[in-house]
Amino acid sequence: MRAIILLGAPGAGKGTLADGIKAASRFQHVATGDMLRAALKQGTPVGREAEAFMKRGELVPDEVIFKLVEARIGAGDDGFMFDGFPRTLAQAERLDALLAAHGGKVDHVFLLDAKRALLLSRLTGRRVCRACGAVYHVVNIPPRRAGVCDACGGELYQRADDQEATIANRLDVYERQTAPLIAYYERQGVLTRVDAARERRESVAAIVAAAADRGR
Ligand code: AMP
Repeated sequence: MRAIILLGAPGAGKGTLADGIKAASRFQHVATGDMLRAALKQGTPVGREAEAFMKRGELVPDEVIFKLVEARIGAGDDGFMFDGFPRTLAQAERLDALLAAHGGKVDHVFLLDAKRALLLSRLTGRRVCRACGAVYHVVNIPPRRAGVCDACGGELYQRADDQEATIANRLDVYERQTAPLIAYYERQGVLTRVDAARERRESVAAIVAAAADRGR
């Protein structure tokens, strides 16, 4: 079982890169943020447990996250791309154990490096399709018609946690709880830095090529 991870602060562009990588490879996309938002929308117990943490821009407890991830990783699957997971050292260690149990490991971690100013402008301008989850930006990736998804015609909205008051907390939480993963994966020799300001198409191509190399 192959596994790659997209690591980076909120707003670094993990989701948009993941969409491009998905289209150009056979990795299955595991985005815990998307899974949590789906659970919340469906009103499941996991969604109800996660809601307050997400609203405050804090991390959902590791146990809740792990339940979701474990349920997603089937024995027959090959090639996962994790996006927004792991976000704590405990999650990273449990992921290593889970992959090892399936005869796999983390092959490659792509760290999307970005300055805080870039993260802020991306987060405040981000709009998401309520129906299909496609991601836009009011300036950088505007839809053809304001407020309407190009792909499915769904309504675009601003995530509650993309409001300015929550964003600062999410960035601080990243620095405190997730940034230590950089050293963790550097020690494993699997970390590659990607400039988050780089043209998306170039980054997708570079990641797909690097992932294919190491996964063989
Ligand atoms: P994202 O869409 O990845 O920015 O995630 C949105 C929110 O969901 C985060 O701010 C957290 O509250 C929660 N979340 C997503 N993934 C995780 C994770 N791996 N661990 C803890 N909380 C998470």
